[in-house]
Amino acid sequence: TATIEAGAPLAIKQGVPLVSQPRLLGAMLDRSVARFPQRPAVDFMGRITTWAELGAAVDRAAAGLQRLGVVKGTRVALCLPNTPYYPILFFATLKAGGVVVNVNPLYVERELTHLIEDSGAEIIVTPDVAEIQARVLKVAGETGIRHVISCPIADVLPAIKKFAYKLVKRAEIGRAPRTPQHLFFADLIAGNGTPTPVPVQPDEVAVLQYTGGTTGVPKAAMLSHANIVANTDAMLVHVGGETPEQDRVLGVLPLFHVFALTNVLTFGTLVGAEMILLPRFELKQLLATMKRTRPTYFPAVPTIYNALANLKADQIPDLSSIKVCISGGAPLPIEVRHAFETNTGAKLVEGYGLSEASPIITCNPFDGLNKEGSAGLPFPGTTIEIRDREDPARIVAAGEKGEVCARGPQVMAGYWHNPAATEAVFADGALRTGDVGYLDLDGYLFIVDRIKDMILCGGYNVYPRVIEEALYEHPAVIEAVVIGVPDAHRGQAPKAFVVLDPPGAATPSELRDFLRDKISKIELPREVEIRDTLPKTLIGKLSKKELVEEELAKAAR
Ligand code: AMP
Repeated sequence: TATIEAGAPLAIKQGVPLVSQPRLLGAMLDRSVARFPQRPAVDFMGRITTWAELGAAVDRAAAGLQRLGVVKGTRVALCLPNTPYYPILFFATLKAGGVVVNVNPLYVERELTHLIEDSGAEIIVTPDVAEIQARVLKVAGETGIRHVISCPIADVLPAIKKFAYKLVKRAEIGRAPRTPQHLFFADLIAGNGTPTPVPVQPDEVAVLQYTGGTTGVPKAAMLSHANIVANTDAMLVHVGGETPEQDRVLGVLPLFHVFALTNVLTFGTLVGAEMILLPRFELKQLLATMKRTRPTYFPAVPTIYNALANLKADQIPDLSSIKVCISGGAPLPIEVRHAFETNTGAKLVEGYGLSEASPIITCNPFDGLNKEGSAGLPFPGTTIEIRDREDPARIVAAGEKGEVCARGPQVMAGYWHNPAATEAVFADGALRTGDVGYLDLDGYLFIVDRIKDMILCGGYNVYPRVIEEALYEHPAVIEAVVIGVPDAHRGQAPKAFVVLDPPGAATPSELRDFLRDKISKIELPREVEIRDTLPKTLIGKLSKKELVEEELAKAAR
């Protein structure tokens, strides 16, 4: 903890003011459709949809949803990988007056059932991919779903074989149970193409964004139209305003995740960008797409930048078209940023956010000091406070660690149908992020770690991230995760898991020796385990959950 001199600034930092008109997301779409009708809106594996075509498809789908009974507030679950169907059905649901429930298509039955029951979704959209659709149909039949809409992925996915999806034949769907009613996207858009306007206010819920899946039961952040619009407008301020040339945003992150939702879909819509969508992260495909489309923005998670940073010299893509790469969703190890920037010549800035804040609350400036290891400055219109973890009423001074809290127009009103969780997540009206961090004297935020990942070792707080950063300094370490494992003497002790390239380049004891002068004795991992791969979450963050469970099971034996 830094020593703070008397009179040093309090740890409340306000971003540049944001002038953002609260409005509906559908209105944001209509504006770009009117301004840029002939420009490409979506590039999906080389297939272009213009803004005019997107706008027309949205209206027809919205009218179709209304024919299925969607009224103000009806929840429509989108269980879709990135394809043009996602933007169409996202905006169509909102224009029909409904609420989007974002569903990860890889959720297992139990998770899917929970989401449908908790949200009260009445309609679910699925691709006609056998594994996903079978699961959706089964769960739909057991919950309150009235209609299942199948999107024929093969129609938009010429390279289907590469993705090894097994598709469902139309005839097989014809034999599917009739309740809930099962229909095709084509049936949805067959009728009249103009939805009836629905009186929705900007502060009403647009999206239910489920979060917290790694601990306990996921709960839904209620994101209003105004929340998402504010974060999108703030992004435009942050990047320095619109440019006359059309931007091309590379969307390899799934749109059902809040990071891509704002950074790709709504930001792309606000500026009328071309949104280049990839159905999943696959390195070769990503490199080929970069070469073909020459994107200008590339938001991604650290594991993706890490993969690009570790490419051999002759595989490194030409990223000269890219203005900036934004890393978010998880800490960006300093070594990964360096290797990525050195290898590709592109600029990589780190931002920080969470589902509950639609999501961005801080980001490093695009022009200006991109501070090493920092999550950046408060986003336009955002106030960051660091609060004492024991006494959340106390805001601590610069340099002092505490819980990162945020206020701003992007912060949700609360969790869906969950007043207890809502109450617990606010302190004096500021959103508690569950992350430990501090502000430096320039107002840059440093995330130390998640409160729940902290290791209590012999009475000391050990932050896994410190150890992970030190491991990444080793030239052969390409992925590193540290968790707390049960320890007879100290309660908990750190244990590290690493992936090496080349494999076998170091032994566990060499790695421990390497760490000795970089971290304190208490932080030194009790054990370093070398693995071929490490578990990742469905959006590609390194995941600790499985490792923690494995270690607990081992300790119990
Ligand atoms: P979620 O809303 O579930 O996608 O995850 C949000 C969480 O991801 C935050 O509360 C942080 O713990 C973590 N996170 C996101 N961005 C960063 C970052 N730049 N540095 C460290 N942790 C991050």
